[in-house]
Amino acid sequence: MPQAPKILSDSADCIDGIVVENNNKVLKLIEDVTADADEVQRRVLSEILSRSANVEYLQRYGLNGCTDRETFKKVIPVVTYEDLKPDIERIANGDTSPILCSQPISEFLTSSGTSAGERKLMPTIEEELGRRSLLYSLLMPVMSQFLPGLDKGKGMYFLFVKSEAKTPGGLVARPVLTSYYKSSHFKNRPNDPYTNYTSPKETILCLDSYQSMYSQLLCGLFQNEDVVRVGAVFASGFIRAIQFLEKHWSLLCKDIRTGTIDSKITDPSVREAVMKILKPNPKLADFVEAECSKGSWKGIITRLWPETKYIDVIVTGTMSQYIPALDYYSNALPLVCTMYASSECYFGINLNPLCNPSEVSYTLIPNMAYFEFLPVTRKDELTGSISEPTALNDKEKQQLVDLVDVKLGQDYELVVTTYAGLYRYRVGDILRVSGFKNKAPQFNFICRKNVVLSIDSDKTDEVELQNAVKNAANQLLQYEASLVEYTGYADTSAIPGHYVLFWELSVKGSTLIAPSVFEDCCFTVEESLNSVYRQGRVCDKSIGPLEIRVVENGTFDMLMDFALSQGSSINQYKTPRCVKYAPIIELLNSRVISSYFSPKCPRWTAGHKQWCTQN
Ligand code: AMP
Repeated sequence: MPQAPKILSDSADCIDGIVVENNNKVLKLIEDVTADADEVQRRVLSEILSRSANVEYLQRYGLNGCTDRETFKKVIPVVTYEDLKPDIERIANGDTSPILCSQPISEFLTSSGTSAGERKLMPTIEEELGRRSLLYSLLMPVMSQFLPGLDKGKGMYFLFVKSEAKTPGGLVARPVLTSYYKSSHFKNRPNDPYTNYTSPKETILCLDSYQSMYSQLLCGLFQNEDVVRVGAVFASGFIRAIQFLEKHWSLLCKDIRTGTIDSKITDPSVREAVMKILKPNPKLADFVEAECSKGSWKGIITRLWPETKYIDVIVTGTMSQYIPALDYYSNALPLVCTMYASSECYFGINLNPLCNPSEVSYTLIPNMAYFEFLPVTRKDELTGSISEPTALNDKEKQQLVDLVDVKLGQDYELVVTTYAGLYRYRVGDILRVSGFKNKAPQFNFICRKNVVLSIDSDKTDEVELQNAVKNAANQLLQYEASLVEYTGYADTSAIPGHYVLFWELSVKGSTLIAPSVFEDCCFTVEESLNSVYRQGRVCDKSIGPLEIRVVENGTFDMLMDFALSQGSSINQYKTPRCVKYAPIIELLNSRVISSYFSPKCPRWTAGHKQWCTQN
């Protein structure tokens, strides 16, 4: 595996030269792997298959140690998580035999994609951390081609860990970023000007989200003049930090003024790490106070962190809903989406990071995994739904193409074969080919398949929403009322955003339905949604209470008329389960009779619910 170039020297004189040399090495690596994309892919597949020749999964399908593409494609099926679930459950329950991978499974990565309401579990191996580090190491050399001087300042990044659980077999299960931040690759990273952050690692590794956010903001404010770039992983996380600042700036200013930390920050390692940075600075406290107490928060980022050159956050996919808010807070600083990754595998990077968010394309790095692509038909722009095959027939299987064979402008579903033991696994993302870097294609991220609602990392699909709504609407039957139609949208006009469901009812009974009944319905929907949604509500507070807006009778007929007037076919029309198009949302809002919010948080515990009862 190519190594992430490292900067090991401490001497300031040396560092400039080393940075340039390192950047050049990285850019050369990108040139090489993209120029030789097909050969690299062949090598990656052959390496994965020869290492895994003895694994039960490949033997089950009779691969017989073959390592060539043709045999692999002929005998190994294209699968989804559901197909792998029995094997994954065996590993989770403690079977250490080589089921999927010949190397020992080091932990499970818990995806924000869910199966039966619980996070999907992705087995991983130790060496994958090196592959993730490699992808991270490519980002800043690419960025520095466009913005010089980034090695001269600090990055203020809001990074967080989430809670971990243990599988019945004793393996740790946690999100991929928690795994990465807790690894020596991050904690003991060498002295590198590009990973010089304002947040000490102790503040990132603090599980209490209030203490973590507070201490990271305190350190970021205190070092405000050093900050040249700011960011978080997803746009929603960055917006949450700004909102936290809006609520807590006066406390933060008090700490900056006195050089002490608020008593609510009780984690000793956080206190110690912050105290190494913080000194009394009344002048800075006055400045922050003056900026934050001005009526408007427009441009607050550039006002408080004046040297900031860009915001590093993912604003592709559902995160694009946060672009207007980010533009407002930053006076339209460049929004930079650097990478595309998942728990299954880190995929690629953006080689033109200063491009407009709507044009972001990711170049898949050919040595991360073996990639295949399943053609899908175009998106229906009005309802946002994709027509795509579910279980693949023989013809569809033959349509899968290799990395270098994708066609410009065509949409594909991404299929990966990884070093950690996924073979021809459908990730569920739909990508559109936007261009090529040498032989390696570049992709616009189009959407995650079937996702209808998302605020943060939650991904609620149509079936989950349908079941949740059904559970809730059953409560209306005793009032001789029933749900005629519904749709939903993610309302992010306030932070945190929340799910809104528009309900049209048929009421036969004469008794008025009390507001508490609808509030119970909101709560039942929340209780029925997946674990990632409930974690966002309970633990991260990144999602606000779900709202039901009851609309006048006939509203959904009007919605259909509108869709038909825009060119939808009457034979194919079905009510969209999510709406994004502003005129449709306006239409629905203009017909609202009453609205109700969930009165409390749903239940959530770390780990799969089966494990909680077993442990
Ligand atoms: P997880 O499995 O929780 O790590 O989530 C991975 C998923 O997040 C991917 O499969 C995508 O659907 C989404 N994702 C990751 N990176 C990006 C990106 N740069 N733009 C849009 N969506 C992304």
